[in-house]
Amino acid sequence: MNTFQGISASGGIAKGKAFVLSVQERKKTEKIPITADKIPEDWERFENSRKKTSEYFKSLIDQTNSRQAAIFQTYVLMLSDPDFIAQIKAEHAKQLVHIEWIVENKAKEYADMLRSSGDSYLIERAEDISDVYGKVIENLAGKMPLRANEVPPNAILSAEFLNPSDAVLLSKQDLAAIVLHKGAPNSHLAILARTYGIPLVFGIEDIEKRIHTGDEVIVDGTSGLVFVKPDAAVLKEYDEKIAEEAQERTRLAALSDKAARTKDGISVNLYANIGSAEEARLALEEGADGIGLFRTEFLFMQSGLISEERQFEEYRSVLEIMKDKPVVIRTLDAGGDKIVDIPGFSFEEEKNPLLGCRAIRLCLKMPDIFKTQLRALFRASVYGSLKIMLPLITDIEQVREAKALIEEVKAELKAEHIPFKEDVPVGIMIETPAAAIMADELAKEAAFFSIGSNDLTQYGLCVDRENAQTAGLFNELHPAIRRLIVQTAKAAQKEGIPLSVCGEMAADTIRMTVLMSAGVDSFSVAPKKIAPLKEHLLRLTAEQIEAFKEWTESAMDAHSLEEKLNAFLSGTHLNGAQ
Ligand code: PEP
Ligand code: MG
Repeated sequence: MNTFQGISASGGIAKGKAFVLSVQERKKTEKIPITADKIPEDWERFENSRKKTSEYFKSLIDQTNSRQAAIFQTYVLMLSDPDFIAQIKAEHAKQLVHIEWIVENKAKEYADMLRSSGDSYLIERAEDISDVYGKVIENLAGKMPLRANEVPPNAILSAEFLNPSDAVLLSKQDLAAIVLHKGAPNSHLAILARTYGIPLVFGIEDIEKRIHTGDEVIVDGTSGLVFVKPDAAVLKEYDEKIAEEAQERTRLAALSDKAARTKDGISVNLYANIGSAEEARLALEEGADGIGLFRTEFLFMQSGLISEERQFEEYRSVLEIMKDKPVVIRTLDAGGDKIVDIPGFSFEEEKNPLLGCRAIRLCLKMPDIFKTQLRALFRASVYGSLKIMLPLITDIEQVREAKALIEEVKAELKAEHIPFKEDVPVGIMIETPAAAIMADELAKEAAFFSIGSNDLTQYGLCVDRENAQTAGLFNELHPAIRRLIVQTAKAAQKEGIPLSVCGEMAADTIRMTVLMSAGVDSFSVAPKKIAPLKEHLLRLTAEQIEAFKEWTESAMDAHSLEEKLNAFLSGTHLNGAQ
């Protein structure tokens, strides 16, 4: 048996067989000149890669549902399009440059041409071209496309790291747990794992030497321990823990239709954070009062910009699934660590991406992309109770500009006789110190606030939320973050606008109680966190919340405060447990 201590990023315990995924960093395609005599050899590499890619998609046709199978069938046809291949061949012979670069540029040229047609069918084909030929380039670089369908059910997925786009794909698989070398608890992969309740541990060095496909592995996502080929004693201990967790799940499942209320009757709203329409069903099953955050960028991370039509379908689905419950859909929050393939824009050139052209900044810079999303959102608005949320606001002018574009979109839809709701509330995320400090002014422009504690902490404490080295400095209980939150809550209250918290802070019992003590009564969390929060609330009293308030107000050190609150809560919960 080998035991490794990693960093916990998503709780829960799992036992299963390891499946090791070999991943490499994706490199930018370089323009490498070659001599004419090397052209046939280079062309043969392309042909081999094209064949391999085609076989890959053919293999997926039988394994997926009919809608996806039809997409993969189109992909196979695209890979044998004689005109396009002839164009690549001619360009290769003319330019005398490595085939990777030719393929990348021809595919981009073709996709851009389709996108500029304005025809929604052709725009979707543009996405397909980028996806298909992107896989050909990965194959040329020796990187096999991720075969998510080959990951056996209930596998413990082990890899050096996961690309965010692969993570989106994998989140749909039936994984028992994920163990990685690189990553951080506040990364988007971690958020996804928590959404699906998949245990996740980071920080296992030399992972490919330590875990092999087929090894029996136990992952304790709560303590961060990973056991490879566990011995009889560990197996026994963990079989018991797994059985206890199963019991706990049954107990928590019974809470799904109970109201979120403290022991003495204080009601709160518990909403869900999702990244796709599919996850809205999960949110409903878990008893969410609505959707507090739909991270739409997850729709774009897999296949680049998707058409208005595809977006409309996705937003409509969420609204229909949630019926009359509120659904907050956040406009595209691309950039930073969430890379979306956008024609005419390169994130890679940014020196400081987290401070760069991301989220609302990107949308205002590229209004066509923003307006396409807004059109899809307003078209979907008639199917439920939609609210639109703008991310990463730092400046009141951004809100005004975004609202002006919204008015343009509404006027366009009106002229086209397309139905939409006039009064969709437009709110903003408070996730930058600038926004929290200016909350009193912003509250006059925004219909609601939602505190993004992940970014607010990252920017407020100057600590990269993705960096494992500085993970110890990332703490939402820091007094500076508390002051920003209290200030925001007061501004929302003064202006009479709703306030919620949708960052990870809301999902932790201690932090959620601290938020309640600051006057927050709406929280949006991963669907799987709703029941544990309800259970926590059922033991909580106004008196305890008041005690939290006193302690947090005077605390200057986040770590000792956390210890103190933890001890207090476990003590009173034990005494007062029902
Ligand atoms: C946040 O920053 O807290 C937030 C909810 O947004 P995201 O995690 O998607 O950046
Ligand atoms: Mg954020």
